This record gives sequence, C-alpha cells and structure tokens, in this order.
Amino acid sequence: DHHTRSAPDRAGTPPPDSRELPPALAVCNLHKRFGDREVLRGVSLAAQAGDVITLIGASGSGKSTLLRCLNLLEHPHAGSMSMNGEPLALQPGRDGSLDAVDAGQLRRWRTRLGFVFQNFNLWQHRTTLENIIEAPVHVLGHSRAQAVDRAHALLARVGLAHRANEYPSRLSGGEQQRAAIARTLAMDPQVLLFDEPTSALDPERVGEVLAVMRELAEEGRTMLVVTHEMGFAREVSSQTVFLHEGQVEEAGPPAQIFGAPRSERLRQFLGSGL
Ligand code: ADP
Ligand code: MG
Repeated sequence: DHHTRSAPDRAGTPPPDSRELPPALAVCNLHKRFGDREVLRGVSLAAQAGDVITLIGASGSGKSTLLRCLNLLEHPHAGSMSMNGEPLALQPGRDGSLDAVDAGQLRRWRTRLGFVFQNFNLWQHRTTLENIIEAPVHVLGHSRAQAVDRAHALLARVGLAHRANEYPSRLSGGEQQRAAIARTLAMDPQVLLFDEPTSALDPERVGEVLAVMRELAEEGRTMLVVTHEMGFAREVSSQTVFLHEGQVEEAGPPAQIFGAPRSERLRQFLGSGL
C-alpha cells in the first residue's frame, strides 16, 4: 500500500530492495507521428513505485502526446510500455500504428492509470458526488452505498466535504480540479497522470491544487506530472524529464535539472521564463 515518505528522501538513491522490482510504469523507445511529422522520437522513462516524475518542456514538445499514448488515446507507431513488469501487448494495425492485442487487457490497463486533465472534464449535469461515484459503480461494479461512502471520504481529503451536492458550474476552477482529483482517486489507480493540472486556473487557485498533489506525493503515490510549475517540480519530484522536440533532452534529479542543468537547451528553457 501507499507508505509515507518525506520529500527529501525522494531525490536520493532508492533502497536496494525497490531496485529489484520492475518499474510501476515503464515506457521504452516510444515513437509517435501525426502524418509525416514525428512528435515522439524514441522516448523512454521509468517510474518506480512512489516516484513522482515531472515532465517539462516547451509547448509542442510532445508532453501531452506522451501521456495520451500511455492509455492508447493516441496510438504510438513503435515502442513498448509496461506496469509492474507486465507489458501491454501491442500489434501494428492497418495504418501502421500500434493497437492493443487484447481488449480486456487494455481495459484493465486503463483502469490502473488515473488521468487528471487541464480542463477538469467533470460531467456538468452531475453533482460533484455523482461525478465521483460514476466510474466506481459502473466500471468497478461497487455498490452505490459503498461508492458514496468512499466519495465522501475522498471529498473530505481534497477539502470539498461541503461541496458534495453542488454542480461543477457552481465550483471555482480550483475546486473543480480538486473534485476531478477525487474522482480519479476513486478508481484507486496505480499511477496518476496529470497533464498541466493547474494551467487553466486563476493564479490564486493554483496553490490549493498543488497542495493536494503534494500530499499525494508524500503518501507515496506514483505520479507522472506534466507541469509548468517549476517550484513544485523542484520540491516534489524524484526525477524531472525535459522533453525537447519529442526526445528526452535531459533527465535527472531536480537538483541537477534545476540547479545544474547540463543541456544548453534546458538552460535556455529554464531561463526563458516559459
Ligand atoms: P505539448 O503537450 O508538449 O505542448 P503536444 O503533445 O500537445 O505537445 O503536441 C506535440 C506536437 O504534436 C505539436 O506539434 C502538436 O501540434 C502535434 N499534435 C498533437 N496532437 C495532434 C493531432 N491530433 N494531430 C496532429 N498533430 C498533433
Ligand atoms: Mg500539452
């Protein structure tokens, strides 16, 4: 289960036993093209259980495409991925891109990945609580009563206990994103994927969402986070990956990436103020 670990340990060497385990999530040599434009050009990364990997890079560098390939919302043209050492079986389809061999395996794979998007993607015609119980009831087959209990607990955790019966349109952006995080947690995913979760928020609402994410990181959740919040990345990451034109230009502990970047492109990116 999720164990508590303090932030400073994250950047250090993992304990020897965890090094023996296959990564919670691994991506190997992923390629993706749109038409004849190759937007991912051999991307590899691996997260051990409890790792927080932050993905940074200029707009258009392929960050969202990488996340979308992980659950086959986009189909890569080459490469492989695995969770806990179990590969997702892929085969080339008619257009040359890879598709899952087995629909059942893909369904299980997707339930183990929890996505949080920039624009929350809450169902507007359902209350916060209904948003959260939808998938546990209809996908996992939990009883409504059980799902409701769990939803209340999750809402309390993200500071929204008092908002359970509100519709999303009545919530602030920060509250909607916290509700979206609770909805994702309700599926108990093995890996949490965030795609710029704070970039649609008013500046004064960013902190409350980052605070929730920081707590998840401290609980030992495995997370892959696309972000422009460099302070957050620096403090919370076990590893930061800098993507440049579809390739990993530099990856390392945040102390290196932010404190002593080796790549000239990364130095430019960090210096540009985005
Ligand atoms: P990032 O998230 O780093 O800003 P994206 O992954 O969204 O970058 O995009 C990478 C590149 O792929 C961009 O040049 C973008 O225009 C292109 N791209 C993304 N999605 C599509 C699509 N569905 N069709 C064509 N091009 C796309
Ligand atoms: Mg993006």
